[in-house]
Amino acid sequence: MTETVDYDDLLTRYEPALGLETHVELNTNTKMFCGCPNEFGGEPNTHVCPVCLGLPGSLPVINGKAVESAIRIGLALNCEIAEWCRMARKNYFYPDMTKNFQTSQYDEPIAFDGWVDVEVDGETYRVEIERAHMEEDAGKATHVGGAGRIQGAEYSLIDYNRAGVPLIEIVTQPILGAGEKAPQVARAYVAHLRDLLKSLGVSDVRMEQGSLRCDANVSIAPIGAGKLGTRTETKNVNSLRSIERAIRYEMSRQAAVLDAGGAVVQETRHFHEADGTTSSGRPKSDAEDYRYFAEPDLMPIAPSREWVEELRATLPEPPAVHRRRLQGDWGFSDIDFSGIVNAGALTLVEETVAAGATPTAARKWWVSDLARRANEGGIDLDELGITPAQVAAVQALVDEGKINDKLARQVIDGVLAGEGEPAEVVDKRGLAVVSDEGALGAAVDDAIAANPDIAERIRGGKVQAAGALIGQVMKAMRGQADAGKVRELILEKLA
Ligand code: ZN
Ligand code: MN
Repeated sequence: MTETVDYDDLLTRYEPALGLETHVELNTNTKMFCGCPNEFGGEPNTHVCPVCLGLPGSLPVINGKAVESAIRIGLALNCEIAEWCRMARKNYFYPDMTKNFQTSQYDEPIAFDGWVDVEVDGETYRVEIERAHMEEDAGKATHVGGAGRIQGAEYSLIDYNRAGVPLIEIVTQPILGAGEKAPQVARAYVAHLRDLLKSLGVSDVRMEQGSLRCDANVSIAPIGAGKLGTRTETKNVNSLRSIERAIRYEMSRQAAVLDAGGAVVQETRHFHEADGTTSSGRPKSDAEDYRYFAEPDLMPIAPSREWVEELRATLPEPPAVHRRRLQGDWGFSDIDFSGIVNAGALTLVEETVAAGATPTAARKWWVSDLARRANEGGIDLDELGITPAQVAAVQALVDEGKINDKLARQVIDGVLAGEGEPAEVVDKRGLAVVSDEGALGAAVDDAIAANPDIAERIRGGKVQAAGALIGQVMKAMRGQADAGKVRELILEKLA
C-alpha cells in the first residue's frame, strides 16, 4: 500500500505547482492530413487511407479548417498567433502510430503566450497559457489480457480510425500560489476550457469519449524553497472530478515520499478511477529523446493578419462577460450564481433555460437534486444521462400540475434508468397527480373518519389543523394527490 500524507497536514509544509496539458479533438469533417472521415467509432480500420496509415510514399496535406479552429482557440485563450510556423516530427515508436513519428509542433506553435481567468469560490485565478499547438491523434490499441495494459497482455488489437484525427494541445505555464485550492483551480480550468471550446463550436468536448483529455503535471516543494520539485505526469484523466482527485492524491503521495527522505521519480502515472489512486507508468522522456525536426512534407503555415482579425471577429462573448450577462439576466445573487459555477453546471443551466425552464427551476434541479446524484455516483453532472431538455420537460410537467416536486424526482429516476422521456415515464410508472374529485373525496372521507379529533378542531375554525389531514391523504395516495384540491375538499366537507 502506497503511503500518503493527510492533505491538510502536507499543506503546512509543502506548496504545489501544477501544469496541465489538455488535448482537444477537433470536430472537423475530415482528418488532419487526409480526407478520411473524422468520426468517433465506426468499424475498426474503416476510416483509413495510405496517409493516415503512414504508408511509404503517401503525402500529407494540412486541413485548413483545423488551422482555422486552432487560430480561433488560440485567440479565445488570449494567445499571440504565429505569423509563420511549421509542423514538426516527434519521433517515437508505438504500434498505434505506424509512421514512427507523430506530426506535431515543437518550437513553433501556432498560438502562444495566452491566459485565462478561472473562478474558485468567488476568487479569480489567472492561468497562463504557454502554447496551443496542432498535432494528430494516434490510433487506439486495445490490449487483451494483462489487465488491459501492454505489459502482460496476450495480444493487442489496433484500430487506426483515430490515427490522424486533428488535435490541439493546450499547455499551461506552471500554476503556482494556489495552495490548498490547487486541485480545484485545475478542475475549474478544465471546466472553463470545456465551456470555452463548446462555445467556439470546434469540438464535441466529450471527456468520457476522450475528445477532451487532460494530463496533470504535479510537483510539490517545501514552502519557501524557491524552486520547483520533481514532477510526475498523470495521463489521460477523463473527468473533471478525476482531475481534482488525481492531483490531490499525487500531492499526498509525493509528500509521503519526501517526508521519508526519498526523491520523487520523474515519470508518467496512471489514474485509477475506482480508488482514486495513481500508479507508476513509464519514465518520462525529455524533449531531446524525441529528436524533433521540422516536417519536410508540409508547407509552413503563415496565417495573414487579416485572416486572424477576421477570425477574432467570430469569437463568442468572452467567458467572464458571458457569466456576468447570465447572472444579470437570471437575477441571481453572487452566492446563488457561484453555486452554479462551482457545481460545473453553468452550461447545463443555460441550456435548460434555453429549453424553456425558468432560471430558478433550472438551478434548483442541477445544483441540488442532480448534483447530489452525480456526487453519489462519482461522476460529472453531464455524465448523468439526463439532458437539459429533459430537465426542462420535467419542470414543465410540474408547472402544468401533472406532477409535483416529489413525483418529479421519481420521473428523473425513470429518465436516468433509461425508461424514456419524462412524459413517457409519468405514463409508464403511473406518476401523474390525482386531482379527480371522486378519488380524492374517498381518501378525504377516510382521513376525516380516522381522525375525528382533528376534524373537530377544523370544524371549530382551526383551519391550520387541515395540514395534518392533508398529510394523511397524501400518504394514503403515495404522494400523488393534488394537495391544493385535497385542502379545498377538507375545508368544504368540514365547513
Ligand atoms: Zn486517411
Ligand atoms: Mn500531445
